Formats: sequence, structure tokens, C-alpha cells
Amino acid sequence: MPDHVYDRLGVRTIINASGPATRLSGSIMLPEAALAMKEASQYCVDIAELQGRACEIIADITGAEAGYVTSGAAAGLLLGTAACVTGLDPDKMNRLPDTSGMKNEVIMARSHRNFYDHAVRSVGIRLVEVGISDRFSGAGVRDTEPWEIAAAITEQTAAICYVAYEHTEPPLTEVVRVAGEAGVPVIVDAAGQLPPASNLRRFIADGADLVVFSGGKALRGPQSSGILCGRRDLISAAALQHLDLDIYWEQWNPPTALIDKDELPGAPHHGIGRPCKVGKEEIVGLLTALQLFAQEDPAQRRQRWQSLMESLAEALREVPHSETELVSDPKRSEMPTVRLRLDEAAAGLSAMEVVKQLQDGEPSIHANPSHVREGVVAFGPMCLKQGEPEIIGRRLTQLIGEAGGRKAPR
Ligand SMILES: *Cc1c(COP(=O)(O)O)cnc(C)c1O
Repeated sequence: MPDHVYDRLGVRTIINASGPATRLSGSIMLPEAALAMKEASQYCVDIAELQGRACEIIADITGAEAGYVTSGAAAGLLLGTAACVTGLDPDKMNRLPDTSGMKNEVIMARSHRNFYDHAVRSVGIRLVEVGISDRFSGAGVRDTEPWEIAAAITEQTAAICYVAYEHTEPPLTEVVRVAGEAGVPVIVDAAGQLPPASNLRRFIADGADLVVFSGGKALRGPQSSGILCGRRDLISAAALQHLDLDIYWEQWNPPTALIDKDELPGAPHHGIGRPCKVGKEEIVGLLTALQLFAQEDPAQRRQRWQSLMESLAEALREVPHSETELVSDPKRSEMPTVRLRLDEAAAGLSAMEVVKQLQDGEPSIHANPSHVREGVVAFGPMCLKQGEPEIIGRRLTQLIGEAGGRKAPR
């Protein structure tokens, strides 16, 4: 084992068979992106000029008018919301999160609410929830409908926030239609919607005004990076609330791709986005990862994940009291997964206990716990390295074999 920085710090590394969760330090960065960050770190640049170039590259890849590198998708939600509230008015920018006298309501379908909307709320807006996703009881069939969103739009509406998943209702195009009729921008949270790479353009093509993506998930850029792309005036407003503007007006020469100085009465002060600072290393790392992701053949990307999941399924075949399933349907998802269904009674262990013991063992192995209540331990390929499926197989065989053995004589 080569000596590395975590050894020197006395921090153990983990086997991440779950996915690029922030809790588990995100994805394993593309070596090319890591190298680009190392190079970037050895020079100084004008950070606005670098964001100006990022704007052009992101615009080109997403089909949006403009783009910006953020410190994550959540930061993109904050900046995008702020942009919708203030527009290009520097006085409003300076006053945030006090939104009195501004358009300060953001509409969200109740079923879209999630923990990340804290980023939207932190701008000082009031979140207006609409619709009832009446499918919980089993009796209902409907979710929030476009007319309900339309009915909630008032003079105070700054934006509509839409969280994109394959199963999201109502369809984005219908939300865009009612929003467009009222002149209200739509912000799409597409943080984890890559792959497919086609989603880089899809939400913009469907008419979203702003879209956010995570840089530290499937893109394999820096963990604390993200993309905000969309309408030029809104990206400009976001940049003005994020960039360091501690500069004299006469001296200030912002990149034209990002900011039109002639449109402004003056420059705002440090804005609400200042705590979401992005370094040159993150910008360069994100751009490198984004370009490589957009270029990579999706079939090849899928094949890499598929072969890891095949190795894992193979390694799990010997695990007692369980059935292993390789879930792989290229038509439904580019991402194959493995599910270990446990016979909890025979194994003498619950799926939750298996997850916990994997995590507490040596090496520490992290599985995806989202299906433990169905007796399923799930595994994903995104952060898994070659050789690790075999380690997971041996550990599980031992763990469940021991527990089952203990129980057997009863
Ligand atoms: C991951 C995620 C986020 C947050 O992304 P970061 O890049 O970690 O800030 C926001 N929304 C959704 C739906 C996500 O899955």
C-alpha cells in the first residue's frame, strides 16, 4: 500500500459502494480534473475572467445562453434564486436576504420539497407550496398540476423551483408554459440528473430559465463544485452576487460574456453568494471534468460501471441466505446496480445490521441503505474501484456466514 495523505493524517479511507454522497466525500475525481486543479493552483488569474471563460464553455455544452461555476448545485440554487429576486439591481443585491419591497415568493410543488430547498429559502424568500401529492394513501392518483402552479402566481412571485427526476410531475414543459405566460422564471434542480449526458441540454431545451447540476457526482469534478446555467441576464445577476467586487468602478473590467458593465448604475458590494466562494482550482477542475464527461461515449461509461457490477454480483453469489440481482437495463438507466436480498430470519441479521456491520468493519464498506426496510442491501458502481467487489464479497460471506452459523443450532 503506497503511503498517501490520509495515512499521514491518520484518517482511514473507505470502500464506497453506495454512491457520490457528500457524507461519503463525493465521487472519485477524474485524474485529469485533479491534475488540472494541481496545475491551476500554481498560478494566479483574474477570477472573473476565468468565470467568463467558464461561461462560454458551459454555454456551449449545455446550449444555455450563459453559465457559471458554483460551489455545488445547492449553491447554484441559492445564487439562481437571488438572481430571480434582484434582477440586475445592485441596490436589491446589497439588501438580501432582506427582500422587503421585492418579488419575494418562490413557488414549489409540495411533492418537490426536499432538504436542499434550504438553499432557496436562505435568500430570504417565502416558499409557497402548491398541490397535494395524494398518492401516499394509495387511493390518490394525482400530483400537483400545472393549473395549481398558475393559480399561485402573483405580483410577488420571483420564480418557480422545479426538482427534476425521471418521475417528476408535472412535466417541465407544462410548468414552463404556465410560468412563461406569467413571465416568471423556472429554476430546475437537476443536481443528480447526470447521466444521461443528454440532460446537460435537455432542461434548457425544455425552456428552463436556470438549471443547476452537481460537479461532484457523476461528472467527477471537484466535490465542492457545480454548474448554474441559463438566461444571460440571470447568470449575470448571479455572478454579480458571487464575485469579489472589492474594486474601484474605474478599475473594474468584468468579462463581457458574463457582465455588461454599461447596464449597471454601479457595482454591488459582496453579495449573498460570497460565502459560496469558488476557487480557481474548482473552476478549472469542473470545466475539465465537464468537457470529458460530455465527450465520453455513454456506452463506454456504462460498460465500465457494468463490469464493476458484474464482478460484484459474481463476488456475492457465495453469500449465504441471500439472493443477488444485477439490475441493468440500459433503456431505463445508464447506471447498473446490484441488490442483495437477504433472508433476514435465516441469516440472523437484518439488512440494516448488515449495512451497519459493513460500515463498522475493516476496511469500512459503505452500501446503499435506501432499501433496507425491504431486506435489501444495494450497491452502486460510481465510486467503486477495481478489486473492491471481491473484498465486499469476502466480507459479506464471512459476516452473514458467521451470524447464520451462530443462529443455526437453535
Ligand atoms: C445532490 C443534490 C443537491 C446538492 O448538490 P451539491 O452539489 O452537493 O450542492 C441538490 N439537489 C438534489 C436533488 C441533489 O440530489
